Amino acid sequence: MDILASVEAVSRSFPLDHSRVFALDNVSLRVELGEFLAIAGPSGSGKSTLLNLIGCIDRPTSGRILLSGADTGAMKPERLAELRREKIGFVFQTFNLIPVFTAAENVEFPLLVQGVAAGERRRRVATALASVGLAARAHHRPDLLSGGERQRVAVARAIVHRPALVLADEPTANLDTNNATQLIELMRNLNRSLGLTFLFSTHDQRLLEHTPRIVRLCDGRVVEDAQTTPTCNPEPPVAPCCNKGSLPEFAFARS
Ligand code: ADP
Ligand code: MG
Repeated sequence: MDILASVEAVSRSFPLDHSRVFALDNVSLRVELGEFLAIAGPSGSGKSTLLNLIGCIDRPTSGRILLSGADTGAMKPERLAELRREKIGFVFQTFNLIPVFTAAENVEFPLLVQGVAAGERRRRVATALASVGLAARAHHRPDLLSGGERQRVAVARAIVHRPALVLADEPTANLDTNNATQLIELMRNLNRSLGLTFLFSTHDQRLLEHTPRIVRLCDGRVVEDAQTTPTCNPEPPVAPCCNKGSLPEFAFARS
């Protein structure tokens, strides 16, 4: 199996008063191409920090992160920005749509940044919106959409440039159960049909019930890395610890 992301003995600490707080402490993890993988753990356990590091938004204090075998620590900031722009899609808890743009314009934005030609942009935006079931909402602004629809627009924006990896930081935390379930099924379908790799952070049991592999963090450390059987096992395992509150275009390698 191809390894898309490899996290090797990564720590990330931040200064706090006269010492340092370890958001991640010696974390190792491999993400295979095509996986649908959840990073679980309570608030403060290091989930967002880990996603930010894999998404090249942040750099580790120690350890290495490899994307398709390439050491991101050795890359210049411009190369990291290019990698983020072209190979990674982000979905956020609060959707982060641009309020004055329509759904279609929000989805188009990453393609504009990449300089994709107008006709190709139109085609890709229409395909991405159709793939999240929102073709009929293309010309609505976010304030005319429900929370679930907004997050589906955000998913369309995350996949429109055909990334290798979608990183979703607590994507269902602001949704009611119906919308959360719909969003999870949608992402799982995109994962299966496009072979897109999804990596989530969550402490949402509804999401974990649909996730075939769960990596649990506690106080910045991996405490469990488990394959599950989502359809047959509606009761996912309880966190063992917590003390604190055809796809060449999907490859990271440069063509
Ligand atoms: P989670 O996403 O699981 O809630 P985070 O990754 O946001 O956890 O944070 C993990 C720990 O690292 C927390 O104790 C948090 O306060 C700390 N932390 C995260 N980012 C920073 C930062 N930029 N500066 C200082 N501390 C931070
Ligand atoms: Mg977080």
